[in-house]
Amino acid sequence: MKISKGLFPTLRDAPSDAEVISHKLLVRAGMIRKVTSGIYEFLPLGYKALRKVEEIIRDELTKAGCQEVNLPHMVPSELWQQSGRWEKYGKELLRIKDRGDREYCFGPTHEEVICDLVSHTVSSYKALPLNLFQIQTKFRDEIRPRFGLMRGREFLMKDGYSFHGTEEDLDREYDLMFQTYHNIFKRCGLEARAVDADTGSIGGSSSHEFMVLAETGEDQIAVCESCEYAANTEKATYRHKILEKHTAESMADIETPGMKDIESVSKFLKIKPQQMIKTLIYKADDSFVIVCLSGNRSVSDIKLGNAVPANEIRMATDEEVFDLTGVPVGYLGPVGLTEIIQSKNPKAKFKILYDQSILEIEDAATGANKKDYHKVHVSVSRDLSLREDHEHQALVNVAEVVAGDACPKCDSGSIKLIRGIEVGHIFKLGTRYSKPMKVNFLNKDGKDGPMIMGTYGIGVGRTLASSIEQNHDDKGIIWPLGLAPYAVHVITLDQNEQIDKLVQDIENHCSSQNLEILWDDRDDRAGVKFNDADLMGMPLQVVIGKRGLDKGEIEYKVRATGEKGNLRLETLVEGLSEIISQLK
Ligand code: ATP
Ligand code: MG
Repeated sequence: MKISKGLFPTLRDAPSDAEVISHKLLVRAGMIRKVTSGIYEFLPLGYKALRKVEEIIRDELTKAGCQEVNLPHMVPSELWQQSGRWEKYGKELLRIKDRGDREYCFGPTHEEVICDLVSHTVSSYKALPLNLFQIQTKFRDEIRPRFGLMRGREFLMKDGYSFHGTEEDLDREYDLMFQTYHNIFKRCGLEARAVDADTGSIGGSSSHEFMVLAETGEDQIAVCESCEYAANTEKATYRHKILEKHTAESMADIETPGMKDIESVSKFLKIKPQQMIKTLIYKADDSFVIVCLSGNRSVSDIKLGNAVPANEIRMATDEEVFDLTGVPVGYLGPVGLTEIIQSKNPKAKFKILYDQSILEIEDAATGANKKDYHKVHVSVSRDLSLREDHEHQALVNVAEVVAGDACPKCDSGSIKLIRGIEVGHIFKLGTRYSKPMKVNFLNKDGKDGPMIMGTYGIGVGRTLASSIEQNHDDKGIIWPLGLAPYAVHVITLDQNEQIDKLVQDIENHCSSQNLEILWDDRDDRAGVKFNDADLMGMPLQVVIGKRGLDKGEIEYKVRATGEKGNLRLETLVEGLSEIISQLK
């Protein structure tokens, strides 16, 4: 492909809304262009790279026995009503009406549609197992589209669904997909790690996310420094310290004028934040949920959502807190709180959730439930009634792990927090969709029942962007050979027949190895061409100019290592072969 004949609009500067490097470089290299928030065009170079990812996914899934389908984007609301998601799925779901006022959604994921397909085409165990996938554009009206291809509203996804007669068969397929995902990301040149993920609201027994480790990742992962434990912090747990006993000193109220947060109070009391009990109030539908946890920890929204059955959970406003307790925000604490609420609001529905982390505080301080006062020497076992079966209280695990926590899996390791990008997700669904959507089959004994399902996703564009997050330098992208839109970037500095012939030779040789070349034939300054080649990031650059040819050689540069050298014209093919084999 000649650059002069195609659309390769490289840019010197990144757009002002680009925060992460993949977004900056994809735009600067002329690979994508924003149309509107979260919606991008793929230009020829970007589309070629995207298709490379697609082909790797398709190839590996086909090898694993999966079959490709193509389901509609527009999904009639009736299907989503059957699964119960039409009401539940929030504003991310784009709902559309046709001229007859019938409702549809633009599919953000396709469990309903695939269930509809399989329920109408499969009825016996003989046709199982089945694993069907598609590579298709999805739409999710993300609240905060950002980072270019990382979190778009319109984006390309591989979504796959498997159907089984038994749990054991789902387990087998899940393991196969687990391995297949590793193969896919490896071929994409990515260092990806499978982490234990939350199965929360969808329900299901097991789930792993495939994370590309990157500073800019939106997800936080807890990993053990000594063993292989790795989990999304949404799900991660830690080993609790078991204390022999809590303080025997008597509680006392201390004046803490104007001090409303953990930091200022702990400083004033000369204690560590983890010695304080933090009290947060949430509104869960029409009742209140009060969470008490160690002062150095945050509540995990996902864990809280799993612990509290409610459609909507949000922080209570300062007014709601005051109306409920009569205590201004900043001075709340668990001691006597149940009685305070009951006397002020006898009809209020509420529950106090004690997070496990407070059991680890030997001598605790907390709000005294009156303005400008905190309580010290609180003994969790003596002063709080931590009973599992209490109407207004429960002991739960809703706090996020913090760095340094003890690993829940091994004896000696401690937790380290790292950041990652979720590129793939596999999930044992069980009968969550097959039951309501009546995806039934007859088993060997002639008995009828719902199929058991798995679901498997990969963000195709996000995978492409993640590759750039992991492989780039200050000059531009560094494509691994597997994803490179072109394997070789040929730069010609002069124009004559000999040069044209040489480029042709290189092209012929590459195409015999199924590799493509990009030819910068533009009549432009050498510096401009070199910069563009570095920016676009093809694995091998070859520079042909009169000066080298006079000496019987052409120059090459390996993009990833910067290694430069010369290829003799007499042995051009052998030389090229050798360098290319090193890139593989
Ligand atoms: P996230 O937590 O990042 O929003 P998700 O849990 O909603 O992801 P899934 O529903 O499991 O994602 O979708 C499968 C895959 O699709 C994800 O692993 C991710 O790679 C990709 N993906 C999801 N949302 C987006 C998006 N807005 N833009 C690009 N890729 C996405
Ligand atoms: Mg999402």
